[in-house]
Amino acid sequence: SRALGSLGQSRAKFISAEERTGVTFDDFAGQEYIKNELQEIVRILKNDEEFQDKGIYCPKGVLLHGPPGTGKTLLAKAIAGEAGLPFFAANGTDFVEMFVGVAASRVKDLFANARAFSPSIIFIDEIDAIGSKRGGPDIGGGGAEREQGLLQILTEMDGFKVSTAQVLVIGATNRLDILDPALLRKGRFDKIIRVGLPSEDGRFAILKVHARNKFFRSEEEKETLLKEIAELTEDFTGAELQNILNEAGILTARKDLDYIGRDELLEALKRQKGTFETGQEDSTEIPEELKLRLAYREAAVAVLACFFPEPHRPFVETDINSIRSQPNMHYAEISGQVFARKSDYINSIVRACAPRVIEEEMFGIDNLCWISAKATLEASKHAEFLILQTGMTAFGKAYYKNYSDLVPNLAMKLEALRDEYMRYATEKCSSVLKEYHLAVETITDILLEKGQIKAEEIWDIYKSAPHVAQPPVSP
Ligand code: ADP
Repeated sequence: SRALGSLGQSRAKFISAEERTGVTFDDFAGQEYIKNELQEIVRILKNDEEFQDKGIYCPKGVLLHGPPGTGKTLLAKAIAGEAGLPFFAANGTDFVEMFVGVAASRVKDLFANARAFSPSIIFIDEIDAIGSKRGGPDIGGGGAEREQGLLQILTEMDGFKVSTAQVLVIGATNRLDILDPALLRKGRFDKIIRVGLPSEDGRFAILKVHARNKFFRSEEEKETLLKEIAELTEDFTGAELQNILNEAGILTARKDLDYIGRDELLEALKRQKGTFETGQEDSTEIPEELKLRLAYREAAVAVLACFFPEPHRPFVETDINSIRSQPNMHYAEISGQVFARKSDYINSIVRACAPRVIEEEMFGIDNLCWISAKATLEASKHAEFLILQTGMTAFGKAYYKNYSDLVPNLAMKLEALRDEYMRYATEKCSSVLKEYHLAVETITDILLEKGQIKAEEIWDIYKSAPHVAQPPVSP
């Protein structure tokens, strides 16, 4: 019998099992091409024998990669739901324990459980925790243990014969770049799908999915409001959009209203940004440590803005009065023609690294906080733009609108090149900040004392501060 309930009591506590996920592709919105690709896999899973007669086999492994909250787990559950198969989920971090042999035996347990109920789906979230490159730096220890776990996954995946591919393994990661290449070889995770941040249309579609069970005054008003929210939520994930609608629903109930309105949605949006950025609601007092971090961040951004001035957008001023995940530096409006050279693009990557580099240098790599989190995203976006859309790099002259247009081989080439630009940008940024360390300190002090500083004063400090020569950084 398929009594999955007993699993919950088994010693395999790290596995969560669902006989039917109840999730369908309709629950995932935006990025339609992803669904199309997965739909095909579902068709093969459902008519296994028919397809086998034609010599078409289901891939053994599908790897979903992209930022957290973009719906990777949702998609994995939808595959199981659409194919009507049981779903076994574990997290890569659960495999990594300090006790010898645990990782490998947990992997064995997971596969044994899934096989007992085959055909079935295995989902391993954060697979990078166990599947990172072997022989690399041993971050966090447990390297040998992890390696055993990884080897066990490879053994399990190689173990089942293609003709009876009864268990589909779905992995999820936001670090494709650190995965061991052995995992990506043919017959393992040979289908790699990028799940990115949704576009504006995608955000609208996601909002509509999560508005299905909510009340609006009319269908038209709902469309208009959700369109507006979609416009205001660049870089938001599906999970964050879902939160906005839930929060708006709660506010509506609290105010004893019948329908969600514009006010509730905008307030929910503000809260979502706020809780994401400060982790605390309704707080006007900025803690001292956060103030210090903000001041250093703004000072570093200011010094980089002097070192690599943006040719078309002079900066005006900055402050530490508001807490945002992006720098507070204000720029003049862009006017006239934009004439951007390759070096301008590269310098923009270096500039974007400033918040993270200064925080790492001042507070330590193990003591980072959210105010520099978006900087890395920003910098890699600049790098991706340069590589994919300008035809100016070793990547080649073709134009790619999206990362998702890339076949896996090209995606890996892109990541290697992007990492190369990121390495250079981080080193260059760090070298500039060391050279102008005294200017950074002076601007930080002024920000802490006055709360803000204007462009002229920044330029004066930058020009007059003694600098400390640094060794050159090679691109
Ligand atoms: P991930 O596994 O990528 O971290 P999840 O699948 O856990 O993300 O996403 C969390 C929740 O956010 C989902 O359960 C879903 O409600 C919502 N969500 C995320 N992306 C989407 C999307 N594209 N369409 C609809 N809902 C989404």
